[in-house]
This record gives sequence, C-alpha cells and structure tokens, in this order.
Amino acid sequence: MMLIGLLGGMSWESTATYYREMNLATNRALGGLHSARILMHSVDFERIQKLQHEGKWGECARILVDAARSLKAGGASFLVIASNTMHKLADEIEEGSGLPVLHIADPTGEAIVKAGYRKVGLLATRFTMEEHFYRRRLETRFHLEISIPDDEERADIHRIIYEELCHGTVLETSAARYRQIIDHMKWAGCEAVVLGCTEISMLVSNDKAALPLFDTTALHARAAVALSLQGELIGLRD
Ligand code: GLU
Repeated sequence: MMLIGLLGGMSWESTATYYREMNLATNRALGGLHSARILMHSVDFERIQKLQHEGKWGECARILVDAARSLKAGGASFLVIASNTMHKLADEIEEGSGLPVLHIADPTGEAIVKAGYRKVGLLATRFTMEEHFYRRRLETRFHLEISIPDDEERADIHRIIYEELCHGTVLETSAARYRQIIDHMKWAGCEAVVLGCTEISMLVSNDKAALPLFDTTALHARAAVALSLQGELIGLRD
C-alpha cells in the first residue's frame, strides 16, 4: 500500500472528512482491520485564507510547496491537496515538491462522464468558480459544459464557505440557499452539480437536492485510496 501524502487544513473540517473517507475506502477494499497509510501536513488556514483574499498566491504556493516537501521527505508516494481552490497551485506544488499530484478534478470528471452527464453546474469558492484553472480541466479533459451561478449567488456561496462551513457551522438557512441555487441550475439546463469545494457536502446532500451531486471530497479521497492500493488490488486479482 502506497503512503498517501495529504496536504490538509484547508479547512480542517473537510480534511477530517478526507481522513474518514480514505480509511473507510481502504477497509472496504481490504477488509479486516486494514486502514489507509496516510502522512498529513495540515496548515494554519487563517494565514492561507488571508493570503488568498489578498491575492498573494505566490506566498500560498511557498507554504504549500514547503509542506509538500515535508511529505516527500516522510516517504509519501503522491500528493492529495485537500482543497479544490488550492489546485490553482497544483502545478507549482507538483514541480516544487517533486511529488505527483492526484488532481481533484480528474476523479470528479471521470465520475460525471461515467454517469452520462455533460452540462453541469459548479458550486465552489469564487476563485474556483470564476477563474479558469479548475473549469478548464473539466472542459478540456472531460468535454463537460460548466455553468456557474450568477454574481449574487456566487457571493452567497463563497461567504457561506468561509464564514460558516470552514468554522464547522451548518445552518438550515444556508442549506436552503444552496438548494435554491441548485434549483436555478436545473432550470438553466444543468443535469448535475459539482460540489467543487471540499466543505459543501457538510451542507447539502443528494436526497434533498433537485439535481444529482458530485462530491469532490469523497471522489478525491476514494481515488487516492484506489491509487495507493493499485499493487494490492492487482495482487488480489492474481
Ligand atoms: N476547501 C475549499 C475548497 O475545496 C475552500 C477552502 C480553501 O480555500 O482552500 O476549495
């Protein structure tokens, strides 16, 4: 089993979900008391989120490259960046650390294509919704059409992520607002929705949403386990 390098703390609320999902997936695959081999570097998110909002991405990259190098030095085989937004820096982190990054958009795109959807809505931080680094990967690699909410909706989605979910606060009024935005996406012709922020699954779930939801946290965590177990699973099949 390969050692997973988990770059976490963005926020720690969703990193806790990653930890759980990775252990559950490993145990589902191998049974017994098997659990995931994970080395984690969890950053101080207050500093990171300030730098993000000040547009100081170079400083964010330096912090995350240092963290990723510590994971490489500890023996990790590949990196899992436990935040969609910080995939803005995925190339720098990969180059700076010398460890391959398992990109969060890839298992997400694969799952959507497998389910047969093409036009999907994206719920995420403003950075992820409005910039190209994330959407373009889904569009070019998976031929998806990505639709984002209007400006007022994006402001609410972003505020709820940073002011509530990253603090562990889950409010029914915010869940209702997200569901309303998903309703709008349905009217606009979307067939499914990407939960493109690792905290959003704390707030909305498939049973109450108007469209099928693709949760990047769970998909990314499970893909990391599949990669870490490649050798074992081939061994099991032999
Ligand atoms: N966890 C979030 C994401 O998936 C947002 C927090 C951050 O900016 O890293 O984008």
